Amino acid sequence: MPTLIKNGRVITATDDYVADIFIEGEKVVAIGKNLSQQADTIIDAKGLLVMPGGIDPHVHLDMPFMGTFSSDNYETGTRAALFGGTTMVIDFILQTQGKSLGSALEEWKGRSDNNAVGDYSFHMAVTDFNDETKKEIQTMIEQEGITSFKTFMAYKGALMIDDRQMVGLMEEVKKHGGLINVHATNGDMIDYLIAKYKSEGKLAPLYHYLSQPEVTEAEASERFVDMSNYTGCPGYIVHLTCEGALNAVRNATRRNQKVFVETCIQYLLLDASLYEKNFEGAKWVMSPPLREKKDQETLWAGINQGLVNVVATDHCPFKWEQKLMGKDDFSKIPNGHPAIENRMELLFSEGVSKGKITLNKYVEVACTNPAKIFGMFPKKGTIAVGSDADIILFDPNEKHTISVNSHHMNVDYSAYEGWELTGKVKTVLLRGKIAIDNNKCLVEKGYGQFVKRNKVEGKI
Ligand SMILES: [Zn+2]
Repeated sequence: MPTLIKNGRVITATDDYVADIFIEGEKVVAIGKNLSQQADTIIDAKGLLVMPGGIDPHVHLDMPFMGTFSSDNYETGTRAALFGGTTMVIDFILQTQGKSLGSALEEWKGRSDNNAVGDYSFHMAVTDFNDETKKEIQTMIEQEGITSFKTFMAYKGALMIDDRQMVGLMEEVKKHGGLINVHATNGDMIDYLIAKYKSEGKLAPLYHYLSQPEVTEAEASERFVDMSNYTGCPGYIVHLTCEGALNAVRNATRRNQKVFVETCIQYLLLDASLYEKNFEGAKWVMSPPLREKKDQETLWAGINQGLVNVVATDHCPFKWEQKLMGKDDFSKIPNGHPAIENRMELLFSEGVSKGKITLNKYVEVACTNPAKIFGMFPKKGTIAVGSDADIILFDPNEKHTISVNSHHMNVDYSAYEGWELTGKVKTVLLRGKIAIDNNKCLVEKGYGQFVKRNKVEGKI
């Protein structure tokens, strides 16, 4: 059932032109003016932007964390993502300390297999690097198509690895052509500050923020880029939030080191004043916490300077009832906020419509760079002959308002309630199929596929 998209303004990370797109099966097979191929479905995209489907490389679906599970599962999370123009996500598998990477993979497959609506892949979080897990790195990369390994320099006693393990893991990952993702904050300092505030009876969400000051992130980012430089292993800093951390990366680029940086939509748009709202601030309790206005400016500039490569979400929703677990103790508030559905429209409205970034830059950081950095380009992340037909049709002028009453995420509040946006996703194609149209989802759970990824060695 071929599809022809006519008269759209096609935007990629590098191009901007009006053309027709002909799709057969799951792929784009022709792009040109006035295409005349026979199609079963013809979509008139006049006046609309035609862009690659968004890729959110940082989400947590159905994740066991702090004694509960994130409230979006594979079905609700990837469906909400599709409504917002994100056709693919990368989730994180968490190894349990003392167990194998393989058993963690099986556990995650148990939750994701046949449940996703949109496409997905996994990063593997290594929380215990030893002689046994070392042997599994090659298998993950070459057989499972999992080429990125997440490490935590924080969450002491649960997920954190020490620098000895980090360097060993980096050497092994480099050897097999993979990449290290890092949560770069100083776990020992944070651990100390949490204990200190608690001992002083300071238990409100504000102290979550105060226990992770900028220096904890700047210090760890610098240490990470130094270890990455020493081992030669490609590094990717997830959810970078602040000027101090970005300066560590800036210094690394001066020695011609490549370090990839992801920020998340919330760090561009929200700031720490939200923590002054008493317990309501728990809605934005996440790690790292929201920062200052000056950091937002630094991050937008970082995007335009090419230092910040990706805008993700760290989507990790918890219902209000779950957030209440920390009512009397900020350290028990499940960390995370919902954004998987809002990322593309927020970034367009606040970034493109307000003149902070260009359309090409928008596609680059929301679609193309995640595909390139994580070994899926050009199958994903662009509109080109031979690529998967993951395409969004976007009205750049339509105004709408974000609300819990209209979102599709399985969470009972919105972190952006009442935000008025310019620009709306109208139609979404995933591998050639119309997945979203007219505010309806037209594909079922199980349509979403696991995407095996390639080695990144020499390509990034
Ligand atoms: Zn995360």
